[in-house]
Formats: sequence, C-alpha cells, structure tokens
Amino acid sequence: MARDPSPHTFALREEIDTALRSKVDFDSWSAQLKEAQAYHTRRDEFTLLRFQLIVGLVISALTLVWDWFAVPGQFDTAIAWRLFTNVPLAIFGLTILSPGQVREMKIVVSLNLISLGVLSMFLASYGSDEVMARYTMAASFILALSCLALPFAPADLKRYALAYGLITALAGIWPNPLPANEMALFMVFSSLLGIPCWVIARRNWNLRARAFLLDMRDDLTRAELEQNNELLRQLSEQDPLTGMPNRRHFERVVVERLEDRKPEHVSSGRLALMMIDLDHFKAFNDRHGHQAGDRCLTLAASQLQSVFPQEYGILARYGGEEFIAAVRERVPGETTRLAEEMRAAIAEMLVPVRDDSKPLITTSIGVALAPADTRLELDDLIEMADVALYSAKRAGRNRVEIIETGLDGDFSDLLQGERRRA
Ligand code: GH3
Ligand code: MG
Ligand code: MG
Repeated sequence: MARDPSPHTFALREEIDTALRSKVDFDSWSAQLKEAQAYHTRRDEFTLLRFQLIVGLVISALTLVWDWFAVPGQFDTAIAWRLFTNVPLAIFGLTILSPGQVREMKIVVSLNLISLGVLSMFLASYGSDEVMARYTMAASFILALSCLALPFAPADLKRYALAYGLITALAGIWPNPLPANEMALFMVFSSLLGIPCWVIARRNWNLRARAFLLDMRDDLTRAELEQNNELLRQLSEQDPLTGMPNRRHFERVVVERLEDRKPEHVSSGRLALMMIDLDHFKAFNDRHGHQAGDRCLTLAASQLQSVFPQEYGILARYGGEEFIAAVRERVPGETTRLAEEMRAAIAEMLVPVRDDSKPLITTSIGVALAPADTRLELDDLIEMADVALYSAKRAGRNRVEIIETGLDGDFSDLLQGERRRA
C-alpha cells in the first residue's frame, strides 16, 4: 500500500536502513521509528480491535448458555458480571473511542479479556470437579488465543499476559479459593499455552515490523525520487545566471495557457508578448569585460522583475542578452505603460564596472499585441514581437515598438509590411 511518508519519516531514512541491514527486532527500534510505525498502523489496528471487541461480546453472550448448565447457582452473578464489566467496556470502546485512541482501545480490550478470565476462575470455584477443570482451561485458552490475536507489540503483550495471569490467579484464590492442585494445573496450562503463543506472536510481530520497514523504505525512495524529479524540472527551467525562469519554462507555461481554451480560463484582456533586448551589449562586453556583462544581465533581470506584474504574466530570460515576457492586459493600454516602465527601469541601472565610467545601458522592446481570444501560436507571436523589436532597433534603440493584430487574418500582411520597411 503506497503511503505518503510524514515529513519526519525522511529523518528516519538512516535508521530504517540500519534496522533492515542488522535485522534489529522491534523492541530495539528507536522511539521515533516505533512512533512512525504506530502512526502508519493505528487505523488498521483500531479497526481490528473494534472487531475483536464485538467478537468478544458475542462469545461472552453465547457462553452464558454454558454458565446456565454448569453453575446454575451462580447464573445471576454470571449475568451481572457481564452487564457491569464487559458490556460497558464494549460500549465505551465502540462508541466513545476514536481511531486516534488506539492505546486506550488496547486497554479496553485487555480489560475485557481479563474480566472474562476472572469470571471464568470465579465460576470455576462453584462447579463440580469436571466443570471446575473446564472453566480454568477456558481461562488459560483465553490467554493463549488473545496472545495470538491481539495486535500488540511484544512488550505490551508481555505486560498484558502478566497482568492476565496475575489477576486470574488472584480470582482463583479469592473470594472462593480453588483447590491447590487445580490452581497448580491452571498455572501449568496457562504457561504451557501462553508462553509458546507469546513467542509465536512476537515472531509474527517482528516479521510484520520488518515488512513495514521495507514498505516505508519503498515509500521514502519513491517520495525522494519525486522530489528529485521536481528539483531537476525546476533546475532545467531556471536560468542559472539570473535565477529567473528560462526559455524552456516560458514556452511550456505560455503554450499550456494558450492551449487552455476553457471559457472560465480565457481572460478578457489582450495578450501581449514582449521581446526585450539590451542595446549594443556586445560593445558593453568588449569594453567592460564578460564579468561586468554578467553583472549587468543579473541586474537587468532584477530590474525587469521589479516592475513586471508576475501574478498576471510571465517573464523569462530568452537567451543571451534577451528577455521575453507574456502578459494579459488588465486595462486597455496597460501594455504600453508596462513596456515603457521596463525600458526606463533598465535605463536607470548603474552597473559596477572596472573603471569609473557609469555606462548607460538601454534596451529595445518589441511587443506583439493580440486579441484576448487570439488563435495565433506562440511562434507567431514571437515572430511578430521580433519584427517589432527590429523596428525599435532600426529607429534608434532605447524604445518600445508595438505591433497590434486581429484574430489571425491580418498577421502575414503585417509581417510583410514590416519586412518591406526594414
Ligand atoms: P543590438 O543592440 O543590436 O542588440 O546589439 P548587441 O550587441 O546587443 O547584439 P549582439 O547580438 O551583436 O550581441 C549580443 C551580445 O551579448 C554578444 C554576447 O557576447 C553577449 N552575451 C550573450 N550572452 C551573454 C552572457 O551570458 N554573458 C555576457 N557577459 N554576455 C553575453
Ligand atoms: Mg540579441
Ligand atoms: Mg542586443
């Protein structure tokens, strides 16, 4: 069964590996590992205990028939004992306890079983020799069967078995003592049945605990793999120099959004695609060095990010000294204002360089502006924005040029017109 590892289980990775390698028994697990095991098994354990409580109640009711025949003189006590111990305990366990209270449920089930054992010993003392032997045997069987059936860790099971043995033995002595030989036989049978059953139960528990560790290791490996994949995806979509999204991320996101034509997702604003290209950047590199060029690109990225409304659009490094952005207009004319703001944000940058010069960095921005429900593909929009960018460069740089288009028809005319002018 695949489970999501809770956050703290990642810290247990090493302990899980060690426990599996050195085949450590459950008793020697660390407290955290036991806690993780309890966390994952508590729901199943609770369901099993509920079932056992119901079965116990049914058996307790059915054995009343035996009590009627075996010790008719104590039948009232047999009924009253069940009514005042088993029934309230079962009601409490079945109606009040919730799945988070497995520990309490274990106590309720244990008390219920001990109560049945005590009743058995008590009734034994009022029966004939044969009836007496049957009742004390029943008390030993309850112990043995419960050792096999209860979903208790070995240490808890040991505590339960000792408590059961001690209290039922007391019930054999008081208030109506059983003959000494009967008590001795009870002790011998209880040990002969109880100890092997406890050993088997302990072994089963350790096998299940080991299976749990293997499951947990698989779950952790799967979760780690998913995390690593996600990390790789993020890294492969991030520009290492500026830390901003790269072209791959941009294209994936924009294509997804363009293809999502569900009416509730189609925004009413026009779609703007911007190509942002630093001016004469080769000359800047040649004069100030590649390192200064890198600083300039990083600074340009954060300047652009500081004015760009990231919640409404996406801005990325397209490659080299070029950035790209896609945004939906919230109000008509927003694109022009935004592109101007981006251009100005670059122009006001102060890039630290080797000498005292304070180089002016400028950028040209080409914008393709399409209707909200445009059928144009991303490639078309980029081509349009490129044409606008070329036009901005040709017109002297440090400026914004916008090409607007209709739904899809007038696009090629527009391109040809621009190319003719170029
Ligand atoms: P234009 O105004 O026409 O855009 O001229 P330009 O010099 O900016 O354009 P061109 O395409 O001729 O040169 C771009 C330069 O950008 C060339 C390259 O050295 C530089 N460049 C590209 N990527 C990086 C980078 O990651 N770091 C640095 N320092 N420079 C880069
Ligand atoms: Mg360029
Ligand atoms: Mg350039």
